[in-house]
Amino acid sequence: MDCPEDGAQLKSTDFRGLSLDECPTCMGLWFDRDELRRAKDSADKDLRWLDFDPFMGEAQEWGEGKRKRICPKCSVQMEVVPYEKSGVLIDRCKECHGVWLSHGEFEKIVSHLEKEVNSHSSGDYGWEAVREFFQIFTGPEGPKEEMRDLFSVLHLLRTRWAVEHRRLLDIINGMYEGTLK
Ligand SMILES: [Zn+2]
Ligand SMILES: [Zn+2]
Repeated sequence: MDCPEDGAQLKSTDFRGLSLDECPTCMGLWFDRDELRRAKDSADKDLRWLDFDPFMGEAQEWGEGKRKRICPKCSVQMEVVPYEKSGVLIDRCKECHGVWLSHGEFEKIVSHLEKEVNSHSSGDYGWEAVREFFQIFTGPEGPKEEMRDLFSVLHLLRTRWAVEHRRLLDIINGMYEGTLK
C-alpha cells in the first residue's frame, strides 16, 4: 500500500498492540476498519465509553486547495471529516471503512478525548452507566463490547468520584456485582 500523502510504501508497524501500516517518510498511519477505536481504547482505558464513529458524521465539502487523498487499499477518493471537536480532520474511506491519520493526529485525538472525560461531572457518569447498562441488551455493538463500555464507566465512577456520590455508587456497585454473575 502507498502513502496517500507522499506515495511512499507503507510499512507494517506495531502501534499500541495493533499491527498498523505506517509511512516511513511522513509517519502517517493507516487504520483498517475498527482499528482506530481499538487503538484509542488501548491508549487509555477510560476512553472506552467515549465512542465516536468517524463514519457517522457528515463529510466536509471539497473547497479550493483542500486535500484530496486516495485510499491506499481501494484506490478510491477518501472523504474528510472532523473527529468531533478535536480539531483533527481525518481521511476516511467509505468503501473499506479505513482511516488515514497524519503524523501526530492520533495523539491530538486522545488528548481531546481525555479532556472530554475530565470535564464531565460524576452525575453524568452515573447516567452514562445506566444508559450503558441498558445498551448491553439493545446496543448495536453486541453484548461483549457494551459490557466493556459499562465496566469502564463504572471504573471511572469508582476511582474518581467514590466519595462525592456515595448513594449512587452503592446502586452502581450493586449493578456491577450483578453483571459479573
Ligand atoms: Zn507518507
Ligand atoms: Zn478503502
